Amino acid sequence: MKKVLAERSAWIDASGIRKVFALAASLKDPVNFSIGQPDFDVPQMVKDAAIDAIQSGRNQYSQTAGDATLLEALQSRLTSRYGWKEPRVLVTSGVSGGLLLVFLTLIDPGDEVIIPDPYFVIYKHIINMIGGRCVFVDSYPDFRLPVDAIAHAVTEKTKLIILNSPANPTGAVYDESEIRALAEIAAKADVLVLSDEIYDTFCYDGPCHSIAAVYPKTLLLKGFSKTFAMTGWRMGYVTGSAEVNDIIEQMTKLQQYTFVCAPTPFQHAAAAALNCDMSDCVAAYRRKRDMLYEGLKDTYELVRPEGAFYAFPKIPEWAKSATQFVEKAIANNLLVIPGGVFSERDTHFRISYATSDSKIEQGVEILRKLARG
Ligand code: PMP
Repeated sequence: MKKVLAERSAWIDASGIRKVFALAASLKDPVNFSIGQPDFDVPQMVKDAAIDAIQSGRNQYSQTAGDATLLEALQSRLTSRYGWKEPRVLVTSGVSGGLLLVFLTLIDPGDEVIIPDPYFVIYKHIINMIGGRCVFVDSYPDFRLPVDAIAHAVTEKTKLIILNSPANPTGAVYDESEIRALAEIAAKADVLVLSDEIYDTFCYDGPCHSIAAVYPKTLLLKGFSKTFAMTGWRMGYVTGSAEVNDIIEQMTKLQQYTFVCAPTPFQHAAAAALNCDMSDCVAAYRRKRDMLYEGLKDTYELVRPEGAFYAFPKIPEWAKSATQFVEKAIANNLLVIPGGVFSERDTHFRISYATSDSKIEQGVEILRKLARG
């Protein structure tokens, strides 16, 4: 038979997270530490805003860049946070939609993208698929931003440096000095930074520092999925200082021919969401972080996570790989994700503690038992 699939189809593999997700369906009431989404529901006033938008007929395409109400609400917040005057904003179908548009807009075959390892899965697969070259910079064992190694990794071909803080899968939050050091490296090399700040609300021990505040050549990606538990509504946005206006303009053109626009009723709901106070949910997640960390810190090599809702412990001595460890965890009714999904190494595993306190207790107990082999 004639070759049907494009060559690039072979360059991506089914998401390792989805594989564990599929296995979950065969288990009876497992402890599910695999899912990267909050366990609380969308706030009622945001649901009401979505329903109201649908009922009142706001169901057509919006402008490509987004509905005016949402754009204005975002712009005024960005102006007060970053001092940008009328910043350009492109509302996207989730941060995932924004990532695809950034990569398609910037990366030519052979271009290099520097990514701290471990990393969020989408980056690697999409960059590979369009012929870019991922240059991974190891951040084990403490998951701090490896600024010196990043400086060494910069070449003539470097197009972009990716930053994700608070980070998936480690829960690391970069401090001000790390952010400033990276900004200096990027400025010296005159390279763009992509800052994925989708977890910015989930920052437990201090403020979430944004490189966009100190480095104008930053493409800032922010989302609604995690903060407001609306992962299925597909809402995110890309923005930045005037220095990246042309890039966002180009991305907007590409959105016209791909996603067309983000879902209109949910854009209205997202505008309402911006007025929601999520501090109770964040406080609950801080307590969950503490429960999990206190429960595991004596049995596992584990960096205390400071943000997002993930922890990334090292596998116990007895396990040959994280994949082997995860198989055993699943046999014990516990779902976690092997580190190899997020890394060039398979020595750690990702826990999502976005679940009930009683499930966290159960999961900690299973993990303590598993540590002994
Ligand atoms: N970036 C990071 C770091 C993520 O963890 C996720 C979701 N898991 C995304 C982006 C994409 O989120 P969404 O497309 O739902 O906005």
